[in-house]
Amino acid sequence: MKRIYLDHAATTPARPEAIAAMLPLLDAGGYNPSSIHAEGRAARAALDAARNDVARVLGAKPREIVFTGGGSESINLAVLGAARAAAARGRHVVTSVAEHHAVLHAVDMLERDGWEVTRLAVDANGCVPAAEFAAALRPQTTLASLMSANNEIGTVASIAELARIARRAGVVFHTDAVQAAALLPLDVDELGVDLLSISGHKFYGPKGAGALYIRSGTPIEAQIVGGGQEYGRRAGTENVAGIAGMATALVLAQAERAAAAARIGALRDRLEAGICAAVHDVQVNAAGAPRLAGISSIAFAAVSAEQLLICLDLAGIAASAGSACAAGSLEPSHVIAALGLPPAYRAGVIRFSLGQATTSAQIERVLTIIPQIVAHLRRAAVVV
Ligand code: PLP
Repeated sequence: MKRIYLDHAATTPARPEAIAAMLPLLDAGGYNPSSIHAEGRAARAALDAARNDVARVLGAKPREIVFTGGGSESINLAVLGAARAAAARGRHVVTSVAEHHAVLHAVDMLERDGWEVTRLAVDANGCVPAAEFAAALRPQTTLASLMSANNEIGTVASIAELARIARRAGVVFHTDAVQAAALLPLDVDELGVDLLSISGHKFYGPKGAGALYIRSGTPIEAQIVGGGQEYGRRAGTENVAGIAGMATALVLAQAERAAAAARIGALRDRLEAGICAAVHDVQVNAAGAPRLAGISSIAFAAVSAEQLLICLDLAGIAASAGSACAAGSLEPSHVIAALGLPPAYRAGVIRFSLGQATTSAQIERVLTIIPQIVAHLRRAAVVV
């Protein structure tokens, strides 16, 4: 029996077109783009082409794109780099409790260095209400960082509205678009953002290649120093092959996005309807909110997510927990905790994330397996 991969939010396999773009830059063409000889200039041409492609997809200028070693690095550069560059103007930043740890741990660092940090609460759908965001901005606020789409529950934020509020207040606005990039529009002018992070391995590109969009005129301090690569904003010889693979994957993902969202969204709806019909005491998180087509976060009452995941894995289904598992205990993740779920549901949250490889036959198979596993676990009373 072939395995069923429902963990596309964790990572996606690189698509053949991305791999084809990378291969020539790994072997015979794998030179340093900063070298002035012909080999180096060829590598530079590949890097420039990738930068032009990413810029075009984002509606940006090529110089506004900085390549990084993935999403976390892009986010670190945005949050730490923009806050530190504006330190003389003010030392207050705003974010939310539901962000990825790449943001949360970066603002923790700023806090240890004397910044004030406001971590806004989210509503039951995982969203930051615009009015609360507006109220949190102060004269000393220099940076706000709010995610475009949540990686655990898939909620899509009203980024254009939030960015407008920040701009009116003269606050630099960063969005973590790592989960959004496969399925949502990324035009930085339509979104109105100053900084935007993406990561290749979430849209069928390679791991370890990402980018940060930096609007012209936005002060940023490099966080990796050394050579003058990336216009002095990120030192280190560029991962030309990875960047080329990422750019290829991004162009294709954005061209296919509407069709992919419709197809994957229909499969996601079928999965949720099937589970809710066959299993009692389940809840789809953020069901009423705008959500990414591929992510379904489902809370099963009186079931341990860890045990459910193990049983699913044994049955050939790869999914992931909506809770952080620590040896012998299950703590609800910071996102699940923020949703205010009833206690019986908190330890039983599973994230199913669908993608390009997901088929209707796979979803039907999952729907025959899950009710059996949940019933078995509940019968055995192996609950946390
Ligand atoms: N932000 C979000 C919303 C994510 O889902 C992830 C990855 O899971 C990241 C940031 C980090 O990206 P990377 O794994 O490329 O460092």
